[in-house]
Amino acid sequence: MLKNPSNLSFRGAAGDEESRKSFVSRARFLASLGMAAITKVFQYPARGLHLWIIGAAIMGCLLLALGSAARFLLRTELPSRSLRSMGGLATVTVGAGYSERVDPLTAQVRGIFERVEQELSTYRSDSAISLLAEKAGVDPVAFSEDAWRVLKLALRFDELSDGASDVTVAPLVKLWGFGRTPASASLPSEEAIREQLKFVDYRRVILKDRTAFLPVKGMAVDLGGIAKGYAVDRAFDFCRSVGVENFLIDLSGNIRVSGRPQWGKKWQIGVRNPFDRSSIIGKIAMRSGLALATSGSYERFVEVMGQRYSHIINPRTGFPVTGTAGVTVLCGDATTADGLSTSLFVVGLKGCSKLLQKAPPADVLIVPDKYPIEIWLTRGFAEVFVPIPDLSNAVRILTPTSL
Ligand code: AMP
Ligand code: MG
Repeated sequence: MLKNPSNLSFRGAAGDEESRKSFVSRARFLASLGMAAITKVFQYPARGLHLWIIGAAIMGCLLLALGSAARFLLRTELPSRSLRSMGGLATVTVGAGYSERVDPLTAQVRGIFERVEQELSTYRSDSAISLLAEKAGVDPVAFSEDAWRVLKLALRFDELSDGASDVTVAPLVKLWGFGRTPASASLPSEEAIREQLKFVDYRRVILKDRTAFLPVKGMAVDLGGIAKGYAVDRAFDFCRSVGVENFLIDLSGNIRVSGRPQWGKKWQIGVRNPFDRSSIIGKIAMRSGLALATSGSYERFVEVMGQRYSHIINPRTGFPVTGTAGVTVLCGDATTADGLSTSLFVVGLKGCSKLLQKAPPADVLIVPDKYPIEIWLTRGFAEVFVPIPDLSNAVRILTPTSL
């Protein structure tokens, strides 16, 4: 977890130097005990009870040594490959028994991510999404099956959240410096923000026969809040379709797991502390098939005069969202987890119960942007989340009436 630069990380098993050393010293100690016992047997040749006691001691040592060895063998590092994709770091990890497949699988996953990016990225001038902005006010643009599905899903979250998330937020994302052009050293003026706000309204996107049309020149769409989750789901489906059962895919904190890392274990995922990226606030044990996504103010931000502005924009005010430090969503697929985490980040702790009642079934962890840290969890999340001991008092249960 701590080594992974994404906001979430996993640890199926750890075969690190520490565990190797402790195994070696334990085995050495047990072996010397065994040797001492054997020496005693030869020093005092067989006499009834005496021999039985020494025999039992030897057996005990052997069993302990075997147990130690078995535990050490089960703690070997899982095969994992990292790659840069969709503007972030991705990791493909396979469970025990699939090590020889990790390289070809990673190559295929890379291809899947590239295809999704090709269609959906605002960073690529040749993507359907870029073309849509180019043709705003002029012509509708035909969408591929993939791009069509993602756009419709994103619009659904915009509707469910009453516009807290809004796919047409792109002009503001660009203005604040999160687009293709880097951030400027000063804040955008209120006037510039007002000017761009005129182009933001998801209800004006016109969908027809797998084409989309933006009616006003200057409007643009940003699917950055959901596209990575979608890419993870496509990669997940692919891995299963080729018969790999135990794996974990992580694309910048959008994670989906299948099976288990090794026999008798679940995939463990650490949730980063939104106030200190080098530590975690707790771990989640993931059931096979589930997905996890995190939206964090620390993930991408611009810093102007020492003040951080998060990359998620409130489409009502035109300013970066304040009040939320991190949101993690746990649910049945990565697209929903990603879309919902962005919407929940905007509505924050106050609006999350209302949104969760309308949204597809999901469990949530929310950390408000305040000190001391509070970790708000829905009941389902609390069942699988173990906070670090220092933060066990920071946990609060989120119910429709708890706020
Ligand atoms: P995520 O990290 O999944 O929460 O997505 C954040 C990304 O979503 C940003 O980098 C923008 O591309 C986009 N975005 C920012 N604000 C919004 C918003 N209010 N609604 C939808 N997408 C947004
Ligand atoms: Mg998201």
